[in-house]
Amino acid sequence: MSKRIFHVGILALFAAPFFLAACGGKGAVTTEAASEAASAPAAAPQQTAPAPEKTGGFDGRRAFQHVSDLVAIGPRTAGTDGSRRTQDYLTAQLKGSGCPVDPEAFHTPTPIGDMEMRNIVVKIPGTSPEILLFLTHYDTKRLPNFVGADDSGSSTGVMLELARQLCPRKNALTIWIAFLDGEEAFLEWKDPDNTYGSRELAARMALSGDLARTKAVILADMIGSRDLRIKRDASSTSWLTDMVWSTASRLGYGDIFVSSETSVLDDHVPFLSRRVPAVDIIDLEIPYWHTPQDTLDKLSARSLAVVGHVLIAVVPQLEQKFARASAALLP
Ligand SMILES: [Zn+2]
Repeated sequence: MSKRIFHVGILALFAAPFFLAACGGKGAVTTEAASEAASAPAAAPQQTAPAPEKTGGFDGRRAFQHVSDLVAIGPRTAGTDGSRRTQDYLTAQLKGSGCPVDPEAFHTPTPIGDMEMRNIVVKIPGTSPEILLFLTHYDTKRLPNFVGADDSGSSTGVMLELARQLCPRKNALTIWIAFLDGEEAFLEWKDPDNTYGSRELAARMALSGDLARTKAVILADMIGSRDLRIKRDASSTSWLTDMVWSTASRLGYGDIFVSSETSVLDDHVPFLSRRVPAVDIIDLEIPYWHTPQDTLDKLSARSLAVVGHVLIAVVPQLEQKFARASAALLP
């Protein structure tokens, strides 16, 4: 099967020949996106978020509002004023949801100079010390006029709403939700110019001993497209991918979480490298990827709600799998 390296911010090896044919050149892709934008109706009925009670309590409209607020901030590239305003926004929203928020600043060399970055980490104590870690990045690619509605607004909006759901609950597992800085390369995607925030978080967790207690890492990235179609990532951990995809299928989202495969380098890699089970939920086959056309009108509140519903529904399964030992010790 033919493969091709597809990179601009995230590197993917696409195994689907039809996509390779459809994605023959960047010019063609951009034209397609532009004509689509011109002809697309404002909001098709299926793009409306379902009522929260239909998606496990997850409110797709709230998630979409977060994405809208993030896009209104503008570019959110690491080290910029937009990034700092995004950190303030995330912190305020999370505190408003009753979440314990830990801003974790760090310095790192980059191809454009030394930089301070900041991961915003929510740490929800659970009955058991075993950790379930959710990840999203919140920075945007350093490109002119790039506001990143899908990349990284969509997954950030979903994780903010997920935090609102999980923070007030008493969960069996300890749940962390990390909003990562610096996923995007400043220049071309080439190590180590990428995934600054996730590499920092994985290293810190290894030092503190938290990584040894981390049972699963679930990353979401670019999950807001109107035509959302998420392939299995071949580099992700099989049992965890199976759990997420079978949950999606059970909830009736088999047309979105499809069975074909791709392979992606993203924020889950530093955890996989340290032998922590991890899965990436990503739709990389979007025509507006890393272009100024990555704007709010390309997104669907329903897509956000679908992914949020799946994430909410996976939690009890992971709790059943991993929280039993500690729970047995309780009186
Ligand atoms: Zn990107």
